[in-house]
Amino acid sequence: MRSNTCPKCAGSMVIGFILDHNPQSSRRSVSSWIEGAPVKSIWTGLKVDSAKKRDIETWRCSKCGFLESYAR
Ligand SMILES: [Zn+2]
Repeated sequence: MRSNTCPKCAGSMVIGFILDHNPQSSRRSVSSWIEGAPVKSIWTGLKVDSAKKRDIETWRCSKCGFLESYAR
């Protein structure tokens, strides 16, 4: 497993993700990064091109709580 060092306090960072929870459908998913500006849709709220979608991994410093995200 990779490990990152916190840029704020040099503590050790632990990998995780930001939970995206929809209370209407009780669905849980990982937050995503989408290329470009958000485009509104009357059907789904926002239009999303799945080819431009990347899951976000977020590292958390176990010492100070700083979060650092990557969309690889
Ligand atoms: Zn830190």
